Amino acid sequence: MNRKFEIITSPHMGYCFGVMRAMRFIEQGLDSFGGAIYTLGDVIHNPLEVERLRARGVHSVQTLDEVPEGGTLVLRAHGVRPDLIDEARRRGIRILDATCPFVELSQRYVRRFAEESVPVIIIGDREHPEVRGIAGHAGGEAFVVKDAREAARITPLDRAGVVIQTTFSRSEAEEIIAALAGRVRDLEVRDTICQATEARREAMLALARDVDCLLVVGGKNSSNTIRLYHGCVDSGVPAHLVESAEDIDSDWFTAVRRIGLTTGTSTPAWIIEAVLARLDAISRESA
Ligand code: SF4
Repeated sequence: MNRKFEIITSPHMGYCFGVMRAMRFIEQGLDSFGGAIYTLGDVIHNPLEVERLRARGVHSVQTLDEVPEGGTLVLRAHGVRPDLIDEARRRGIRILDATCPFVELSQRYVRRFAEESVPVIIIGDREHPEVRGIAGHAGGEAFVVKDAREAARITPLDRAGVVIQTTFSRSEAEEIIAALAGRVRDLEVRDTICQATEARREAMLALARDVDCLLVVGGKNSSNTIRLYHGCVDSGVPAHLVESAEDIDSDWFTAVRRIGLTTGTSTPAWIIEAVLARLDAISRESA
């Protein structure tokens, strides 16, 4: 069976700036303080990398109760509620704050709106840790809307300030803003969508025009990876989402000439290398 193909890689693959920075904090924590390092939730939305880090002493916990006094807590790129940082300090927990500067910007906007008593609207997924953290900076008073239908149902307001989850799709955010404009007289929108995810999506769409199969590598619990994958599916090109090289089924590539490869923002280089090696082996086997 002929499965010989060419692999075209996206120019935007692997860790984004914020995840790379968070991983540097982890390394710094392991080097400087030894023993165990704690993160509230997984430091990165990639199960295989989380497992690798756990073996090195990085423990994902759900609450501060699981972090011992004097322990080191790395705040992941998504950021957290400010009261949680205060509580950790009260408990004598050392904090390494790896909140992505782009998320910090959203938090700052929201604090400013709240200080001016301007109601805050966050466009995003209310269960996403970044959104929960940002809402905390509004004093817990934020409205969260995830689609235009929800936006069209919010209480009519004279004025509101809007921020957008950094990994949200721009086209969906624009629809939501249009719906909000019908409910809020004076709407102040801060465009907080991250360019890293935008650039990745645009590069994927360009790839889609040039290949006959797309492969997305990333955690199935990563919202930016899932959005990227849905974008691939919507492009009309057959697409597959894999977390590791082992997930690849060689039968996907029967009669495929060019494969486009892209990744979410939390996919480590060692997984990308393993995927490339597996694709190369499949292509060679059938040569
Ligand atoms: S996707 Fe953007 S906002 Fe999120 S961590 Fe990466 S660089 Fe920061």
